[in-house]
Amino acid sequence: MPRGFGVRGHSLPVREETSMPDHHKLGRELDLFDTDPLIGAGLPYWLPDGAAVRHALEEYIREAERRAGYQHVYSPVLGKRELYEISGHWSHYSQDMFPPMDLGAEQVVLRPSLCPHHALIYRSRAHSYRELPLRIAELGGMYRSELSGVLGGLTRVRAIQLNDGHVFCTLDQVADEVRGALELIRRAHDALGVQPVRHRLSLPGSGGKYVADPEMWRRASALLAEVLDSAGVDYEAEEGEAAFYGPKIDVQVADSAGRESTLSTVQVDFHQPEQFDLHYVGADSAKHRPVMVHRAIIGSVERAVAHLIEVHGGAFPAWLSPTQMVVLPISDAESPQAEELARQGLDQGLRVRVVGPEQGSLGARIRDARLVPYQAVIGGREAAAGEVAVRLRDGRRLDPLPAREVLARVRALVDAHSTQLWDSDGQS
Ligand SMILES: [Zn+2]
Repeated sequence: MPRGFGVRGHSLPVREETSMPDHHKLGRELDLFDTDPLIGAGLPYWLPDGAAVRHALEEYIREAERRAGYQHVYSPVLGKRELYEISGHWSHYSQDMFPPMDLGAEQVVLRPSLCPHHALIYRSRAHSYRELPLRIAELGGMYRSELSGVLGGLTRVRAIQLNDGHVFCTLDQVADEVRGALELIRRAHDALGVQPVRHRLSLPGSGGKYVADPEMWRRASALLAEVLDSAGVDYEAEEGEAAFYGPKIDVQVADSAGRESTLSTVQVDFHQPEQFDLHYVGADSAKHRPVMVHRAIIGSVERAVAHLIEVHGGAFPAWLSPTQMVVLPISDAESPQAEELARQGLDQGLRVRVVGPEQGSLGARIRDARLVPYQAVIGGREAAAGEVAVRLRDGRRLDPLPAREVLARVRALVDAHSTQLWDSDGQS
């Protein structure tokens, strides 16, 4: 495995039981991400270990969406200024957008959201009611012109990878789609080991920040409240937190300082289908307006990883860990067996690396790898028997098991996106 970013043997912060660590500090210490003044504030880059976590997270999201009936698209991070004038971003949101770039006679802007592009993708083809609900999703870039004074870590950034999805559906289908999105979010939180602090029904406040159409707001808010009530979800309604085009359900998490932020969201939108003149052909052969349900399972990848770093103190669930298994030959004599185990693990799609005796005593190597879920120790006895003595990150030690069985069990737990380190049947 490529190396060179991890500082082996330097001391990692000890996780305090009472409070979550700060993701800025830990993210740098764990070599997950960093920034460079020449790239600019609020524009973090991802180091190999951080990229491995992010990749695992993005794969999980795409797979979960695919199973839930979403089709994935790609759309560009730029769009013409007119696109955002139509969507309403220009008049309601331009203070958060980068200034437009002049390109000959036209102006293009870095997009402040993916919704307008997805509305145009929907509009590009004719749709029948039989195709609805039509669900499209994308992990795509968006940009926010945050002031440099408030930038930092992965939570206040200018470049954001958004986990966005839009469901185009009939009015009758909205409640089921909102319910389905909440279920997708709940399952993702389980896999991530994340516990939301509350659900918030975010309603418009006073002022010109919101598109004016009282009847639209009333209907959309009533639909969201109805789904929350019927699902038995406790929530607090709060004015002034809605998107400019519609109300939303926000799933809130808290950071190490107790500050709340929105990790996941579901929104009902009657506004953009109107602005973009979207329609579908109904059973009556007439044109009808679809409703747009916006949803983000993990909001932005940056915010989600920041929260995961804090919640787990760097000890991610195995499926998210940058290194899932370290193989520790006790002496050089077991190096061939260690390399073979690592090779088989890599072939099975696991992130495995060998840390040999040249890197220190076994005890020191185990300490350095204490955030790695599986530490596979191979001594003379194990090497001769084709076995591995596994230590789990939580301190448990398993009896030696055949190498093949160890890899198969780890693979199964990773595939299940389990937050358990070992299944109970596996304990000897
Ligand atoms: Zn959207």
